[in-house]
Amino acid sequence: MSSDGIRWLVLIVVVAAAGVGLYTRYQDTRPCTQPVVYAIGAVDARFGIGSAALIADAKAAAAIWNTAAKKTILAYDPEAAMKINLVYDEREATAKLGHQIALKQAEADTARAALETLQDKLTAAQKIYNEKVRDINAQGGAIPREAKALAAERQSLQTLSNSVKSKIEAYNASIAALNAEVAAFNQSAGRTFEQGQYVRDASGTRINIFEFIGTDQLKRVLAHEFGHAIGLGHNDDPKAIMFAKNESGNLVPTSADLSALGTLCGS
Ligand SMILES: [Zn+2]
Repeated sequence: MSSDGIRWLVLIVVVAAAGVGLYTRYQDTRPCTQPVVYAIGAVDARFGIGSAALIADAKAAAAIWNTAAKKTILAYDPEAAMKINLVYDEREATAKLGHQIALKQAEADTARAALETLQDKLTAAQKIYNEKVRDINAQGGAIPREAKALAAERQSLQTLSNSVKSKIEAYNASIAALNAEVAAFNQSAGRTFEQGQYVRDASGTRINIFEFIGTDQLKRVLAHEFGHAIGLGHNDDPKAIMFAKNESGNLVPTSADLSALGTLCGS
């Protein structure tokens, strides 16, 4: 009788221990059940962003997922172990250079369009002049007053033509210089850089951001790495936040993102 009682007791203890173990595992690994908390870690000053602005951008990036999940799955907590670090290396420098080149290319496109307009204007003026000369010749030639006017017109056309010519030469020289810059840039930046990474290793979890141009791109990189932090992998939709490359400017989860989130969070 008494030995039966002891056996019972042992059994209950074993069950209770297994229950605690399961509960702990469940809390640790089940996604979306508890918010993943983040804080700001090391921010290299060369990024030119203050921590208040970075916190605001991180909150905006977190809100993308919180809104989609209809609950807080990512939360800012200054004491959180998972830090967001802005790590300045050649990637950010290269991104800046690439951005400058893109701006110069846009300027060159504008300059080219203006030159083409000017050239069209010159061609039209030359055509009018030539028609005038043909008409006058057909009527037997110019009287002195007409000849003088035509000479003046020819002179102003020549001036315009010279100016267009020198502008085209300057444009061509600037394009050659820009092309040389692009070639040098492509050589140094030929490999694709990752803009950010979510790291989970023996020392914990962290998000490292290496490059971004502007707030929206930073928010997108943060949203992408936050996606990894909550347990999302990559998907194949180029516009998706969880696409492997940060090519789109889209800050709204696509259906591919939402379906992965639904599967993850079990909704
Ligand atoms: Zn990724």
